[in-house]
Amino acid sequence: MAKMKCAIFYGPMDVRIEKVEVPIPTDDEILVKVKAALTCGSDLKTYRRGHPTMIKPPSPFGHEFSGEVVKIGRNIKSKIKVGDRIVCANTAPCGYCFYCRLGRESMCENLIYLNGAYSQYIIVQKRIVEKNTFIIPKDISFEEAALLEPLACVVHGIEESGIMMGDRVAINGAGPIGLMFVKLAGLKGAYIIVSDLSKDRLDTAKKMGARGRIYALGDLGF
Ligand SMILES: [Zn+2]
Ligand SMILES: [Zn+2]
Repeated sequence: MAKMKCAIFYGPMDVRIEKVEVPIPTDDEILVKVKAALTCGSDLKTYRRGHPTMIKPPSPFGHEFSGEVVKIGRNIKSKIKVGDRIVCANTAPCGYCFYCRLGRESMCENLIYLNGAYSQYIIVQKRIVEKNTFIIPKDISFEEAALLEPLACVVHGIEESGIMMGDRVAINGAGPIGLMFVKLAGLKGAYIIVSDLSKDRLDTAKKMGARGRIYALGDLGF
């Protein structure tokens, strides 16, 4: 049996890198060789205090990644082929519960989660393959593509906010998500003001198009 390295989450403040068998996908799964994996705020929170729904320890850890398809279960209905470079969201809605039928999939009562991105190989469930897996265009790197899911959250937020050309938009926090908001609100033609506790992050926000910057509480820097 081939072995791989895998980070296992045993509980708050307890993650161990272990040698485990490379998983064999069932007919309803695919196997992906991980090429890039990211750490998001949810991973940090999970590491510090666990997570009520996303992960039940002990479990492989990490949920934002991109990779190359190695094996495909026979029940999978998708145009994805072995060798394709792909990126997946870490959840998929059921499509038939009360909330899904209202078009509010993020509230799905039967949401499934994917874990195990901090690993050499990862299993992806049929529903995620069929609903939320995408082939990476040639000019996009694995590292860039792995940002798909957080970027999708920001695209959704921008759409919900109804930002228009010339609006003034305040963005609290210039972490990765805040910076994506800076970029996308800028593309909408907004005048952007960002607040953050870090001057470095505010400088990055400026490079990405923020016009006004607020450092901590007060100290206006333009
Ligand atoms: Zn995440
Ligand atoms: Zn649902």
